[in-house]
Amino acid sequence: MLRRILPQAKQLAEEVIQLGDTVVDATCGNGHDTKFLSECTGETGKVYSFDVQAQALDNARALCESKNNIEFILDSHAFVDSYIKDASVKAAMFNLGYLPKGDHTITTSHDSTLPAIDKIFNLLDDGGRIIIVVYHGHPAGKIEKDALLDALSKWPQKEAQILKYQFINQKNDAPFIICIEKNRNA
Ligand code: SAM
Repeated sequence: MLRRILPQAKQLAEEVIQLGDTVVDATCGNGHDTKFLSECTGETGKVYSFDVQAQALDNARALCESKNNIEFILDSHAFVDSYIKDASVKAAMFNLGYLPKGDHTITTSHDSTLPAIDKIFNLLDDGGRIIIVVYHGHPAGKIEKDALLDALSKWPQKEAQILKYQFINQKNDAPFIICIEKNRNA
């Protein structure tokens, strides 16, 4: 069976992450990806997990209470370079949109998503990946999707391979994945 979007996003991350790696959850939300990344990197690794909502980070802290390799950061992912200065990043995950069961007016936007992607790409190891799950079934999500596809389709092929993984016959603007893999010697 073809892998669905969320399992595929995890698979793309898992393929490159090793124990001890530094990774980023750019949209912590309720913390499901943060917990997954914490397990992939293990006690010797480190997860930087960002969200602009204290409620999201509280939920995530409760979900991840047994994990001790996570730094929760109440700030926009656009400022990732203020928090990660001397580490290289193996993978980053973005799960765009709004907090499930939260305030639907607080949502990701290309104004911060695109600068965050640029900054994380600069921190990324060769062969590292940025995995973005794009939700475009809401008005702000459509604008963000168009801006991301427009910008990323123009990235030079010599720097990165960029994949779009999408089911094309699903109804209701089903989410899709964009995966950016940094070329070796980029
Ligand atoms: N992966 C999460 C989980 O496992 O529950 C779900 C993430 S949710 C779809 C998107 C999250 O992005 C929301 O919690 C929202 O507050 C957060 N967000 C919105 N703008 C942000 C920004 N500029 N920086 C970091 N997080 C942001």
